Amino acid sequence: MRSAEARITTLLIVAIMLVVGTTYWLVMQHEQLTAWFLFRGAIVVAGTAGCALLAVVALRRDALKYRRILLDQVQSCVLADGAATLPPPRDPSARPLVANLRQRIDTLQSRADQLQVQKKNLEIQLRLADAQRRQSQIMINGISDAVIVTDTFDELILANPPAADVFKFDPATAAKRSIASLLDTMGAKLVADISDMRQNHTRTTRRTVEHQFEIEGSPRTFSVTMSCVMDNSDQFCGIVTVLHDRTRENEISKMKTDFVSHVSHELRTPLSSIKAYAELLVDGEATDDKTRSEFYHIIQAEADRLSRLIDNILNISRIESGMMKINKKAVSLNGILKQVLEVAMPSAREKNIQLIDQITPVFSQIEADRDMIYQSALNLVSNAIKYTPAGGTARLSLAVDDNTNEIIVLVIDTGVGIPPESMKHLFEKFYRVEQHKNMAKGSGLGLNLTRQIIESIHKGRMIVQSEYGKGSTFGFALPIMA
Ligand code: ADP
Repeated sequence: MRSAEARITTLLIVAIMLVVGTTYWLVMQHEQLTAWFLFRGAIVVAGTAGCALLAVVALRRDALKYRRILLDQVQSCVLADGAATLPPPRDPSARPLVANLRQRIDTLQSRADQLQVQKKNLEIQLRLADAQRRQSQIMINGISDAVIVTDTFDELILANPPAADVFKFDPATAAKRSIASLLDTMGAKLVADISDMRQNHTRTTRRTVEHQFEIEGSPRTFSVTMSCVMDNSDQFCGIVTVLHDRTRENEISKMKTDFVSHVSHELRTPLSSIKAYAELLVDGEATDDKTRSEFYHIIQAEADRLSRLIDNILNISRIESGMMKINKKAVSLNGILKQVLEVAMPSAREKNIQLIDQITPVFSQIEADRDMIYQSALNLVSNAIKYTPAGGTARLSLAVDDNTNEIIVLVIDTGVGIPPESMKHLFEKFYRVEQHKNMAKGSGLGLNLTRQIIESIHKGRMIVQSEYGKGSTFGFALPIMA
């Protein structure tokens, strides 16, 4: 419609120009070139030029108007979100353009739809991955060993609290950080191992090495297992590193080895003695009754020592493994301690040591295994006699501490005392103070067994005080029965 208007306007103007031009030409045929003629000619030319200008302005105005209408249509269609709403153009010449536009818009629309679907899929995948990540995190948090999961760039994906504890990093901010910065200088060798594993994952998929880390000032040994993680299409995704603290296991294993070697050594000493004296007797080396009797006594004493040693070892291992048969009853300590004094008196006399009875009558009772308490008190009194030189004293006392509601048994001697550096080792298995080794025979098991009986079985506590060169006080406190 608009286009038709424009065409009519153009035709009108062209027609005017033709009429004016033709008229002028006809006039020119009959007239002389006078000033009047020239004036009229100029008016005709100016009129023609005016008409032409008018025609151009009208044309331009129509073209602009038409362009605006077209743009409005396209815009309204785009705003209406779809080519389907684009009305057919009134001007047939604009139809190819609109059809093209419609096609473009359709393509864009379907692309936008596809992207929308892709976006939704990605959102679902992201949520799924996030849920899986959280689940993995929960699972590795439940593992007591330190676990570190790294990606193909040696950056941290997951780590559990024990790993954060070992390497002192904050698990909340550690994700996506390079392990070199997280493990710092402390784990530089481990970082190198993980890197090496990542680069050479085709050669091996699992590797176990041992690493030592200094944690809170003490060295700890870790067994480190690195495993490559592959996806379904065998593509390398990262490395799972598990650090198992073997420090305690190594210590226990060493303790077991030491224990076996100590036991064999301790057993060999009395056994060699028994064997040697028995051989002398068999070979008839003891010619008179006195010598034979002496040999028999040595054999008997060594056999007793052997038996005590074996009893101690067995008792300690039974208590430690919880297999000890315990027969707890309400007992009074007076009778038990009197019996200890009676048994120990001969050896005290033999060594010229005054064994003093300071057992005050105590009516309170304790719930205890009588034989075990007897054994503990006897160990302490025997030690007091063993480690006190002739002429010294050893006292056995019994008292009640009303403040703590405990019965206190003390053995106070005027013996050699204990060097301060040895105090913390006294209750270790097979420990003997170096300076005392020539003073008396022993196995270093008595105090360990006594402590196990008092503290583990009877929930009491051991008491030790000593001044090197002056004497010692060993004892125990047991809770009074309610
Ligand atoms: P042992 O069989 O060697 O006596 P114990 O376990 O009973 O083993 O004692 C461990 C060590 O503690 C002894 O070897 C000794 O050096 C020291 N000891 C124990 N009691 C005393 C004491 N009353 N005076 C000095 N040292 C003692």
